[in-house]
Amino acid sequence: RTVYLNGAWLSEDEAKVSVFDRGFLFADAIYEVTAVISGKLVDFAGHAARLRRSLDALGIPAPVSENQLLSLHKEIARRNALLDGLIYLQISRGAQDRDFLFPEGLHPTFVMFTQAKQVLDNPRWKSGISVQTSPEGRWANRQIKTVQLLYSSLAKVNAARDGFDDVLFVEDGFITEASSANFHMITPEGTLVTRDLSNALLHGITRGSILDLARKAGLRAEERAFIPEEAKGAAETFITSATSFVMPVVSIDGHTIGDGTPGPVSRRLLDLYIEDRLANGES
Ligand code: PMP
Repeated sequence: RTVYLNGAWLSEDEAKVSVFDRGFLFADAIYEVTAVISGKLVDFAGHAARLRRSLDALGIPAPVSENQLLSLHKEIARRNALLDGLIYLQISRGAQDRDFLFPEGLHPTFVMFTQAKQVLDNPRWKSGISVQTSPEGRWANRQIKTVQLLYSSLAKVNAARDGFDDVLFVEDGFITEASSANFHMITPEGTLVTRDLSNALLHGITRGSILDLARKAGLRAEERAFIPEEAKGAAETFITSATSFVMPVVSIDGHTIGDGTPGPVSRRLLDLYIEDRLANGES
């Protein structure tokens, strides 16, 4: 694969980042993941806007403009002949002698790579996934998309050991989100409910897109916090992310949701999303 590193196109084993990089030593870095389907970038504008918010929140200067970022996405997909998969980008504050304090004017480290993946052909869309509730233990600023993912990774490994596909973090009794996706439910009355935006959760780009599409399709949608017991009584539950789109959740802590198969509203939202992005994605 060809990767991008600070303005250069390099083969993946040529690309080198300093051991003094603050991304490596302090997780002082942010990232984005954008899906590519049939050669089209999915929700690029949303990912670019969130990238800017994450950089601003940490005071890391943007290494490129949004236009340049779009060109880089197209260029890396072209260089790797990526038709279906994802584009990962990471920007750290840069490298310096190890010190909690950082000086002004560090040069950010900007890396991009691709991963080919049949994102349009996910077998789990048909079966749905199981989740396990787990205490929230991430830092308090989850709206910033930092590479500080250790707690989420360990929680997902624990859930896998217990036979679950993912975790559902719970804080003060309320669901925040899954390990790397936002969580939603369709109530028995047919209303889409998803947690309102705050520092408690990542402001998922797919979450926003699905909310828009749902409302356009005439679905009632509410943004509010809810507890696992309410989710367990829902007609349908699902998670959303840039690479899984709309993934049905068919059990929570071993409790079956609905009839234990992906529900019609989740399927409809998945179909609407793919259809719309295939028609309107950047290519
Ligand atoms: N929540 C978390 C914690 C995430 O890491 C992600 C990204 N995988 C999401 C939600 C979903 O966000 P998006 O739809 O922008 O991928």
